[in-house]
Amino acid sequence: MIDTQEIEVQRTEHSRLSEINFKNLPFGKVFSDHALIAKYTNGEWQAPKIIPYGDIHLSPATSALHYGQAVFEGMKAFKNPDGEILVFRPEKNHERINRSAERLCMPKITEHIFIEGIKQLVSLDRNWVPNEPDSSMYIRPFMIGTDPFLGVKPSDDYLFMIITSPVGPYYSKPLHLKVETEFTRAAKGGVGFAKAAGNYASAMLPAKKAQNQGIDQLIWTDAKEHKYLEEAGTMNMMAVIDGKLITPPTGSTILAGVTRESFLILSREAGYIVEERPIAIEELISVARSGKLEELFGVGTAATTAHVAKLSYEDETFELPPIESRKISNQIGNQLIGIKMGTVEDVHNWNMKF
Ligand SMILES: *Cc1c(COP(=O)(O)O)cnc(C)c1O
Repeated sequence: MIDTQEIEVQRTEHSRLSEINFKNLPFGKVFSDHALIAKYTNGEWQAPKIIPYGDIHLSPATSALHYGQAVFEGMKAFKNPDGEILVFRPEKNHERINRSAERLCMPKITEHIFIEGIKQLVSLDRNWVPNEPDSSMYIRPFMIGTDPFLGVKPSDDYLFMIITSPVGPYYSKPLHLKVETEFTRAAKGGVGFAKAAGNYASAMLPAKKAQNQGIDQLIWTDAKEHKYLEEAGTMNMMAVIDGKLITPPTGSTILAGVTRESFLILSREAGYIVEERPIAIEELISVARSGKLEELFGVGTAATTAHVAKLSYEDETFELPPIESRKISNQIGNQLIGIKMGTVEDVHNWNMKF
C-alpha cells in the first residue's frame, strides 16, 4: 500500500506561469513553480516537502560534487483530452532509481516519497502541464550524497528532489548516428545499467567530437571489442531486419529503458517477431550496405521514438529507408505515444492518472 498522506506544501507567492510561452518550449530550461525535497539523515528519510522551485544551498565539500554519488530518473506527464494528468509507469522508474541507488551505495527511496511525491507535486503544478501537441511535462527526480566530507566513502546523508519542466520535442528531426568504435560508455561489471550522473559526463567528449562532424548522437558498442551494438546513451536502440524487431538484451552495460520494455510488449501483441539478442556491428553494416536494414530507431522517454535517417560507421555513411516506409517504428511508436497522451486505450493500465 502506498502511503497517500498529504505532503506538506509551502506554496510560491510568485507564480511564473504567466511568463511562459508554451508554444515555444526549449528542452529542460524552464521549471515549474514547485519542487519536492526530502532529506535522508540518521539512517532514514525525513518527511518530504513541496517548496517553491529555487536554488539550493550546499557545502563546497558536498560529497556528490567530488565523488559522484548522484542518480536520477526521467518521466513525462501528459494531459489527456479530458484534462486529466497521465504519468506512464512511474513504478518502473521507482524500481530503477532504487537499483541505481543500490549500485552507488545510496539508500532506497520509499514509494511515498517517489510515487506519491510525483502525484502531489504534479497535481499542484497541473497548469504547467502543456496542452500543445508533442509537448509534456518532463519530471526529473534525483538523489545526491550530501555529506560535507572529502574522505572517499558512501555519504551518510542524502538529498532527494523532484523538479519538473514543461518541454517541447527533444529531437525535432530524424537523426544521423555514428557507430562509436574508439570510446566506451559502459563496461561489464560497471554502472552502465544505472542512471548514474557520471555515465553522462564520460559520454560528453565522444559525443562532442561526433557533433563536430555533423553527427547527432553515438551508438555505443561493447567495451571489450567494439563489435556489438549497445545503446545510444539516452535511448535504447532497435532495428528491423527481415520484418523482425531486434534489440540487444539489457545487462550490466545497457540501461533497461521503460520505453524499450513497453515497445517490445506492444510489438509482440501486434504479432511482430521480436528478438532480444546481440546485434553484431558487422551484421548491422552488412544489411545497411545491401539496403536490407528496414528500420533503425532509438526509444526513450525524452526522445520517444527517434528514427535514424543516416548511419555512419568508420568512413561510410548509409542513407536508411524513408521514414514513411517504416512499419513497426511508426505503428508501435504512435500507439505508445497515444497511450501516454490518453488518445489510445490503456489496456495494460500503465498510466497513473490524476
Ligand atoms: C534514460 C535512458 C534510456 C531510456 O530509458 P527510458 O526509461 O525509456 O526513458 C536509455 N539509455 C540511457 C543510458 C538512459 O539514461
